[in-house]
Amino acid sequence: MAEQQIGVVGAGTMGQAIAQTALAAGFPVTLYDVADGALEQARQRTEAGLQRLIDKEKLPADTLPGALERMNTTTDLGALAQVQGTIIEAAPESLSLKTELFAELSAKAPRETILASNTSSISLTRLAGAVHEGADRVVGLHFFNPVPIMKLVEIIRAEQTADTTVERVDALARTLGKTPVAIGDTPGFAVNRLLVPMINEAIFLYQEGGASREDIDTAMKLGAGHPMGPLTLADTIGLDVCLSIMEVLHEGFGDSKYRPCPLLRRMVDAGYLGRKSGRGFYTYDAA
Ligand code: NAD
Repeated sequence: MAEQQIGVVGAGTMGQAIAQTALAAGFPVTLYDVADGALEQARQRTEAGLQRLIDKEKLPADTLPGALERMNTTTDLGALAQVQGTIIEAAPESLSLKTELFAELSAKAPRETILASNTSSISLTRLAGAVHEGADRVVGLHFFNPVPIMKLVEIIRAEQTADTTVERVDALARTLGKTPVAIGDTPGFAVNRLLVPMINEAIFLYQEGGASREDIDTAMKLGAGHPMGPLTLADTIGLDVCLSIMEVLHEGFGDSKYRPCPLLRRMVDAGYLGRKSGRGFYTYDAA
C-alpha cells in the first residue's frame, strides 16, 4: 500500500482520471472542486472507470471497495491542503486561477507536500513565482487524455524546482504505471511542441490544395507509421485546442514558424471544432 497521500484539484476530465489512476495504484486520494456536482459526477465516473478496468482484467477483481473507501471528496481547500504527499492541480487552464490556487496551497499545505500542475501551456516558473512558501516544490506533471490508457507523463521543471522534487514526482509517476520524461519549462513542453505544428502544417497543405484530406491522413499513416492521420487527429484533439496550442507556441517563441494556419482559425471561428461539435475536417454523428 502506497504511503503518501495524493490531493487533486479540479474534478473534471483530467482531475477525475488522475484521481482514479492514483486510487487504482493504492493511494489515498482527496479530490477537491468548487462544484459539488462535479465531485458527485467524478465519484460515479471513478467507480465506472475502475469497474471497466476490472472487467478488462487490467486491475484485480477486488480493487473497487478499497479504492472507493480511499477516495475523499471536498469543496474545502483547507481540507485538501492537509494532504501529506503530492497535490496535483487540474483546474481550468487560466493563469490567474492557477496562480491564486498555488499561492493559497503553498500557504496552507505542509512544507514537504509537492505542488504539481497538470497545465498544458502555462509556465511552471510563473506558477512557482506565485507561491509564498517553497517554490522549489512546484513542478509540472502533465498527464495525457485518457489518463488510464496513456502511458506518458511529462515532468516539467521550473527554474525554481529542486532536484528532490523531480525525483519524487518521477517515482510517483512510475508507481502510477506511467513512463515519465523530463522537460524544461519551455512553451508546449515536448509532445505539443512536436505534434501540433505537424498538424498545423497538414492544415496548410490542405488549405493550399496540395492534397485531399484523406490523402494527407493516409500519407502520414502509411508513410510515417502514425496510428491516425493529422487531420483526423486534429478533429479528435479539438481544433480550438490545436489553435490555442499554436498561439502559445507562436507567442512563447515569437517565431513565425509557429503561426496558426488561417484555415484552422476560420474553422474555429465557424464553430467547426472537430468530433465534439460534429464537424471538423470530417463530419461525425452527434456525440
Ligand atoms: P475540465 O473543464 O474538464 O475540469 C475542470 C474542473 O475544475 C471542473 O470540474 C471545474 O468545476 C473545476 N474548477 C473550476 N474552478 C476551480 C477552482 N477554482 N478550484 C478547483 N476546481 C475548479 O478541465 P480539464 O480538461 O480536466 O483540464 C484541467 C487541466 O488539465 C487544464 O490545465 C488543462 O490544460 C490540463 N490538461 C487537459 C487535457 C485534456 O485533454 N483535457 C490534457 C492534459 C492537460
